[in-house]
Amino acid sequence: AIAFNQLRKSYGPLEVLKGLSGEIYSGQVVAIIGPSGCGKSTLLRCFNRLETINGGTLTVNGMDLSNPNLSRKQLQRLRAQVGMVFQQFNLFPHLTVLENLTLAPQKVLGKPKNDSRELASHFLSKVGLVAKGNSYPDQLSGGQKQRVAIARALCMSPDIILFDEPTSALDPELVGEVLDVMKQLAEEGMTMAIVTHEMQFARDVADRVIFLNQGLIEEDGKAYDVITNPQSDRLKSFLSRMQ
Ligand code: ATP
Ligand code: MG
Repeated sequence: AIAFNQLRKSYGPLEVLKGLSGEIYSGQVVAIIGPSGCGKSTLLRCFNRLETINGGTLTVNGMDLSNPNLSRKQLQRLRAQVGMVFQQFNLFPHLTVLENLTLAPQKVLGKPKNDSRELASHFLSKVGLVAKGNSYPDQLSGGQKQRVAIARALCMSPDIILFDEPTSALDPELVGEVLDVMKQLAEEGMTMAIVTHEMQFARDVADRVIFLNQGLIEEDGKAYDVITNPQSDRLKSFLSRMQ
């Protein structure tokens, strides 16, 4: 679970997150939407300590991330518990799919080679790519690359997965296969925070939607309500631009 209260984050003089409060419960799927530059990626990056917050509190799986001085061990534990999937996949191009999947479990979790390979095959089949273990990333389509990235995150047995616009770099015909995998994870009870422009997916798959605007939470509620019955003019106009 993630809980934050009056969370603030600045880059130098630029205050990006201006006091956000909320929580993401265990097993919940939360979509984060909002215009470009409003702070969506920054908020996600705070959740796994790619950024350190400047004010307020943030607790992730019981770990206090307002503490600026986490030990290496704590950071490692956090990164193992909180997976992240990026728009640009971030696969290692010089490693095969299987090697991409087994690297962190072996290096970070110290898993034996056989165990990590077994785990990798299990999650590759889960995302429908058993046949691609020996391929290199540039031999895969964008949708396949993103499914590998999701499998890679799953290989660390995370409690929470953060997705930052996971389908934004994909050709339209490849979006569905990635959303299907995410939907399955959601149904299995994974805790997920998803920055997305896929409003239909947010409405149908997320439990909650948070609308961020200029560094503040403008609306936060049940996914269906927020998307189909926006309250603020800003969310109304944002949604109408997304059609
Ligand atoms: P988009 O939809 O375009 O991805 P976003 O909502 O994810 O936007 P962020 O990437 O969180 O927005 O950026 C919020 C603001 O912080 C922007 O004004 C951006 O220019 C600024 N910003 C982001 N990262 C940094 C950084 N490392 N240093 C300085 N400014 C940054
Ligand atoms: Mg972003």
